[in-house]
Amino acid sequence: MLTLGLEEKNTFLEAINKKSGANVLECYQCGKCASTCPVSDFMEFRPRVIMQMIKLGMKEEVCMTDSIWFCLTCSACSGRCPREIDIPAVMEAIRHLTIEENYHPKSKKVKDIRKFHEIFLDMIKRYGRNYELRMMAEFNIRTRNLFKDMHLAPKALLKGKIPLGHESTKSAKAIRKMYEMAEKLEKSK
Ligand code: SF4
Ligand code: SF4
Repeated sequence: MLTLGLEEKNTFLEAINKKSGANVLECYQCGKCASTCPVSDFMEFRPRVIMQMIKLGMKEEVCMTDSIWFCLTCSACSGRCPREIDIPAVMEAIRHLTIEENYHPKSKKVKDIRKFHEIFLDMIKRYGRNYELRMMAEFNIRTRNLFKDMHLAPKALLKGKIPLGHESTKSAKAIRKMYEMAEKLEKSK
C-alpha cells in the first residue's frame, strides 16, 4: 500500500540512509540483487522490492515483513549492484529500526532468528568470540526447544566441530569496551 504523497517528506528513507550509510534513492530497480540473493525465494519481498518500498516510505510494511530477517548479510547482492548500494547494510539498518521502535515479528521463525542474533552478540560481548556449545544450549532453552539438533551433537563433538571448553580471545576486553562505547553512543543520541 502506498503511504506517501509526493509532497510528503520521506522520513523512513532518510532514517535508513542515515543508519546504513547507503543511498537507497540511487536504486533504479534493475533486479540484479534479487536474482543473486541466495534466500530471495524465501522472502515475501525480495531485496529489489524492499528498496522500492523504502523509496515509497512504506515503513510499516517493510518493518513488519519477515524478509528483512532472512538476509544473511552475505553481500552477494551489493557485489553485483550497478549503483554500488550496500544492501546488507540497508537490511541491517531496517532490523535495528524495528528493534528500536518495537516492531514485533509475525512468525515464530523470525522470533527465533531475533533470539539467535541476541545470543550471538551476547557471546561476542562476553568472550570476544562465539562459544558454540553454550550458544546451542542457550538457543534451545530460549526457544523452548530443548532437544533441537541434539542428535547431531555426539557426531560434531567427536569430530571436534564443537569444542567442549572455550577460551576468551586476547582481545575480549577491548571488544567489551567497544560494546560499552557503542551503548553510551546510542544512549546519547
Ligand atoms: S541491484 Fe542495486 S540498483 Fe539493482 S535493484 Fe538491486 S539495489 Fe537496485
Ligand atoms: S546480503 Fe542479504 S539481501 Fe543481499 S544477497 Fe545476501 S542474503 Fe540476499
